[in-house]
Amino acid sequence: MKTTELLIPKQGLKVLVTAGASGIGLAIAQAFLDAGARVHVCDIDDKSLGELPAGITSTRADVSDETDVEALFRALCEHMDGLDVVVNNAGIAGPTAGMDEISTDEWMRTIDINLNGQYLVAKRAIPLLKASSGLLVNMASVAGRLGFAYRTPYAASKWAVVGLTKSLASELGPDGVRVNAILPGIVSGPRIQRVIEDRARQRGTSYAEMEKENLAKVSMRKMVEATDIAAMALFLSASGGANISGQALSVCANVESL
Ligand code: NAD
Repeated sequence: MKTTELLIPKQGLKVLVTAGASGIGLAIAQAFLDAGARVHVCDIDDKSLGELPAGITSTRADVSDETDVEALFRALCEHMDGLDVVVNNAGIAGPTAGMDEISTDEWMRTIDINLNGQYLVAKRAIPLLKASSGLLVNMASVAGRLGFAYRTPYAASKWAVVGLTKSLASELGPDGVRVNAILPGIVSGPRIQRVIEDRARQRGTSYAEMEKENLAKVSMRKMVEATDIAAMALFLSASGGANISGQALSVCANVESL
């Protein structure tokens, strides 16, 4: 086999992407579809679910709701027989405020979606991934390896995702299942615009100043694209990634602080 072939995922992979109807999840779903995979996504946004590209099947499901996740796996079994790759992508930004200013509800909601959601999905996916010697990709963030002032619930949830990833990789390695986390940096798109707006408001500064300040912390002085994250997920699922497990892989243009 030529080395370049190691970069291409096998045809017909069965893939689940959570929060796959927009943003990074959609870029990942589209990339797998383009690579010849069968792709199922879940999301809570009916409008985005209704606009999915042809060929991607979907279920409306909130990953933090156990009943929804059970329904998702029932639907998945109707659409595809087995599962090779699960991308635990759903996650929210959570509040931008000091720890003493955020509400308990905001804290709980961030942990519920960003951490507990990955648990609920992984729990049901594991038997299927054991059967296929499959791959679990958990979406973390560079906030899962750095401190992030005024985004404590988010950073805490993403550090937990890295712990979940490394522990599961140890647990499932003997069954041939690989588990990795991807740590995106600042991904260009509407979500980061909202985050910069919130931070600017919280700091009493302008959007432009806040954006400049954010990029000063990235050695390459740029944001990354959702397709960069999708490319990493595709590589992990190809033969070239076959011996990569338990890793927290940053795709971030080198974010050095937050
Ligand atoms: P986003 O805010 O653009 O949302 C993408 C989708 O998630 C939306 O369609 C939304 O409806 C869906 N969603 C939200 N809550 C959900 C839930 N409970 N269950 C199912 N679907 C839900 O997000 P994004 O920017 O594409 O981020 C995707 C992942 O990447 C998240 O885990 C995020 O923390 C992580 N991440 C993003 C960035 C960034 O700069 N955008 C940086 C680092 C990490």
